[in-house]
Amino acid sequence: MAGIFVLVGHIEGQVGKPSLELLTLARRLGTPIAVCSGSAPEALGQYGAERVHVIESEDIGAHPIGWVQALAELAADTPPDAVLTEATPHGREIAARLAVRLGGGVLTDAVDVQPGPDGPVVTQWAFAAGFTVTARVARGVPIIAVKPNAVVPTPAPVEPAVTRARLVPDEASLRTRVVSRSVRESTGRPGLTEADIVVSGGRGLAGPENFALIENLADALGGAVGASRAAVDAGWYPHTHQVGQTGVAVSPQLYLAVGISGAIQHRAGMQTSKTIVAINKDGEAPIFDLADYGVVGDLFQVVPRLLDEIARR
Ligand code: FAD
Repeated sequence: MAGIFVLVGHIEGQVGKPSLELLTLARRLGTPIAVCSGSAPEALGQYGAERVHVIESEDIGAHPIGWVQALAELAADTPPDAVLTEATPHGREIAARLAVRLGGGVLTDAVDVQPGPDGPVVTQWAFAAGFTVTARVARGVPIIAVKPNAVVPTPAPVEPAVTRARLVPDEASLRTRVVSRSVRESTGRPGLTEADIVVSGGRGLAGPENFALIENLADALGGAVGASRAAVDAGWYPHTHQVGQTGVAVSPQLYLAVGISGAIQHRAGMQTSKTIVAINKDGEAPIFDLADYGVVGDLFQVVPRLLDEIARR
């Protein structure tokens, strides 16, 4: 059965939301075939995976080369029509290496994938989303790394056929080894790149202690916390939360910019969000050029009232 390979990622032992998005996209293109290391065939079947290949190997989780080998072996058995990975550093590395192994073409940072007469048509944003590019792979298997939140994951339950394969790593191709792994302490909030809602704070917060307002708002909405570079550079919030050109690029359903002016470098990391809400006391702030909804006001008054309103509902 040829089809669309979907490389599944796990977050804290669960199938990650970006993988469910990939399965949703794969259904547009053909027959989704999930490739994973965990034992979650039922969860994958809920999102239309007709077949689930479970790869059993001690060390494969964080190891791109092991995944490339596993996908290449499956592809040698049944060549796929396309392969989808997440556009994370891990997923992009696998996509690039797999393209070399299969003699295929790779397209990264896709924000949309549609079927076309000559193979999948991929939409990408270039130059801080200043341009939209549509592209397709001209030769070989299309290998496409898709950004989180490109699509809303929708269930389409099927009973998947499950195969289990033991991966014996090809020692000759293993040039790197995982030496250790540590899990960052969980905040209980979703990760910045895969969150549906991101609440970001900027210099307007006037100090690190006021990020509690942003955290409270993020928690009330079930979102992740972001920050502008000005806030990060001031040491108010960790760099891992910086949104923008030199931080993380996010594309959530809802982005709230609180006390952020909307400099071009910040916009580069969030302007593809589906709905943007800005809270800023300066009605002329550039963020309002981008925002779908704006509140001109003092965040120290607006955010507590917003929290009260959310709690009331
Ligand atoms: P400011 O520009 O100072 O804006 C603060 C805003 O808060 C103002 O609009 C003000 O009106 C508002 N405000 C103040 N008090 C209140 C209040 N009480 N209530 C409501 N509103 C209030 N920036 C990023 O964010 N991400 C990046 O990745 C990034 N990369 C960069 C890369 C390069 C090479 C360079 C040169 C810059 C980069 N920057 C980046 C920095 C960017 O140019 C801006 O300096 C930065 O985004 C400003 O952050 P800010 O909006 O929080 O602060």
